[in-house]
Amino acid sequence: MITDEYISFTIAKQKHIALIAHDGKKREIIEWVDENKEILRNHFLSGTGTTARLITEKTDLPVKAYNSGPLGGDQQIGSRIVEGNIDFVVFFWDPLESQPHDPDVKALLRIAAVYDIPIAYNRASADFLINSKFMNEEYERKVINYNRTISTRLEELSKK
Ligand code: PGA
Repeated sequence: MITDEYISFTIAKQKHIALIAHDGKKREIIEWVDENKEILRNHFLSGTGTTARLITEKTDLPVKAYNSGPLGGDQQIGSRIVEGNIDFVVFFWDPLESQPHDPDVKALLRIAAVYDIPIAYNRASADFLINSKFMNEEYERKVINYNRTISTRLEELSKK
């Protein structure tokens, strides 16, 4: 659906879930995935290189691996969000360690917000998300209709 303000996109029943964890949080995401294995096996999983491989190794779930985070994996996941190919993110980022790829982390969080993507950033938020009724339903996410924003801006700028 397209309105002047929003374009809505359907998050299907079967979600495209990206899994990412900083090193200090890898053990936690593996435990979380293992605990929720029966739900997660019904969805399409992907993740940054090291996280994806560790999860597959420890849980046997298939997880498509992008590049490692510091080598651009977060940016790849951001671009899949923009293209509409990832619609759910679990990102256990480490609040106690600075990261060499901090700008990429910030960029991913920003783009997830722009595209109205559900994102869990710790175990509690991931537990709440995965137990949401929307996990078994379609969901309409709403993305700002920037085409209109551009034309409105052009109109306003041409008045100056
Ligand atoms: P990794 O990347 O899964 O390759 O360790 C995660 C990150 O640091 O963003």
